[in-house]
Amino acid sequence: MRRFLVMAAVGGAAASTVAGCASAPPPVPPDQGCLAVLRSRGVDFAEGPDLKGVRTPVTLNGDRFSPRLKARAGRPAEMDCQLAVALVEARPIFQSYGITELDFSGAYDYRNRRHSAKLSAHAAGLAIDVHVFHGNARQYVVASSFERRPAAWRTLELGRGGLRDCVADARTARGRTLRGLACRLRLENAFRIIITPDDNWDHHDHFHLEAPPNFTDWMSSPMAARNPG
Ligand SMILES: [Zn+2]
Repeated sequence: MRRFLVMAAVGGAAASTVAGCASAPPPVPPDQGCLAVLRSRGVDFAEGPDLKGVRTPVTLNGDRFSPRLKARAGRPAEMDCQLAVALVEARPIFQSYGITELDFSGAYDYRNRRHSAKLSAHAAGLAIDVHVFHGNARQYVVASSFERRPAAWRTLELGRGGLRDCVADARTARGRTLRGLACRLRLENAFRIIITPDDNWDHHDHFHLEAPPNFTDWMSSPMAARNPG
């Protein structure tokens, strides 16, 4: 199985908090290794601004990013560096479906998960909600064109025809493309969690793409060399 296990690095700062200690843990410095990877990919971005909850905040130039990033509410493409790198690494998948632009409603958003007291991955700048994927000649609107197949989505695994079963039986070209995108992205390593209309009603109109907080560490590990995404 190619997807890697996200190690217990989630919330390293939280793990270092000692019970009973009154002082807050020291802030985790920005991940210079991640910024170096982003620069090495030729991405047009600026560091910052400081965002509560985000270790390495960056602002992408959405017009010059590939695929283009178009914010529905006109918000800047602010996120953690790890999500930016994940989007770069997923480029071959977007390109294989002819996708040139992602319409998103939000990336960084300091809020809890819906129906939960836990912070969302958006609060750490690690997730982006994509509502429409644009190709050269057509657009793929998740709300209207995604064809649901929850059973195939839940059991998706690489091998044993997993991708074929996940996409199979889509009735329309748009439906086939959206399912193909979701399934291919889920089988690769750039995003550790992908939530689609197959998962719940809250996501009936978008894909939630969530990067691992330590993605660039994994990219440089021997495991990545054995299992390239
Ligand atoms: Zn989301």
